[in-house]
Amino acid sequence: MLKKSKIKELAKKAGFDICRITDKIEFAVEKNILKKREKRGYWPSPFFNKDINKVCDIKQIFSDAETAVVLAVSYQQKADNNPYLSKYIGKNDYHIYIYNMLENLIKMLQKEAEKPFKFQKFVDTAPFMERALARNAGVGFTGKNSFIINPEYGSFIFLAEIMLNLKIEPDKKLNIDCGSCRKCIDSCPAEAIIKPYLTDFSRCISYLTQKRGILTLKERKIIGKNIWGCDVCQEVCPYNKNVKHSRHPELKLDKLFVIEYFINIDRKHPPLELKEMALSWRGFRILQRNAIIAAANSRAEKYFTIIKNKLEDRSPIIRFYAVWALMEINESKAYKILEELLYIEDSKVVKAEIKRLLNDNY
Ligand code: SF4
Ligand code: SF4
Repeated sequence: MLKKSKIKELAKKAGFDICRITDKIEFAVEKNILKKREKRGYWPSPFFNKDINKVCDIKQIFSDAETAVVLAVSYQQKADNNPYLSKYIGKNDYHIYIYNMLENLIKMLQKEAEKPFKFQKFVDTAPFMERALARNAGVGFTGKNSFIINPEYGSFIFLAEIMLNLKIEPDKKLNIDCGSCRKCIDSCPAEAIIKPYLTDFSRCISYLTQKRGILTLKERKIIGKNIWGCDVCQEVCPYNKNVKHSRHPELKLDKLFVIEYFINIDRKHPPLELKEMALSWRGFRILQRNAIIAAANSRAEKYFTIIKNKLEDRSPIIRFYAVWALMEINESKAYKILEELLYIEDSKVVKAEIKRLLNDNY
């Protein structure tokens, strides 16, 4: 029989900052909330499993599950110097890094247990309500920004879980909440937190930086200078001040990634360092697009020539954003270029955008 204290000791040894245990692996309250939200179009994220029964009952994924060991790793570094990327982007993809930590922990647990046990493990992309499970285990409480907040480490934490077919004494939920604070709601640049505990993903910058296709003008403005993700509603949170920092330098970025770097990505031969980070899963074109949007929103002349070079990009999507960005940065210079371009551009979508821009600025 595995003891709770031993599991926690081994989790620490494997590198996890937080380890809590729960047997509340069915989420009846959340199921009702999700059903109502689904009807109103407020699904937690388009990347989240759409099967309500599955996301709200872990036994539907692992029928032998009795206990969840919920783990967390802080990624709050002492110094962050990447203004265009969310803090969770480190030089290593955290999914792979934490998955290895989980494997190591499971090996230690197997060695410790008297009998073999069944298990399943997940990192971040669990097909169930990971945050509800973390709250049930007392990893943290749910903030009005919907993140799990731990009193010692704050909310810049990655979650991981091991489901076991063993009964283990559970931990209690934390008895803390946000109180009267509403800093995250008032500071969100996209006004995406429409009420406490309800974020409209369709407006959230984190989602928009991952959304494919043509973004509306409003969406391009909302993105601001963010190339990947957004941390504002966590950065302003008082629970993220004076917290314990990450003990994993592997989850940190060692260099500054500037807007030009992303605009100039060679998509056929992307840099290895980018492939190893947790931001390439939507493709490199989306990063390039976001960088062009960030440059346009900065309105800095230094980006004009770099973006002008993208008018010859083989992707119409990139050319589409490039024509718009040039107009944002320097309207009179861009006007002449676009007038000439109109006769040689062969994409209907790009042509239509050039016409719109020329007419709007006539
Ligand atoms: S991540 Fe950014 S845009 Fe999304 S809710 Fe938080 S502050 Fe708003
Ligand atoms: S900023 Fe305030 S309201 Fe928002 S999650 Fe933090 S404590 Fe809660």
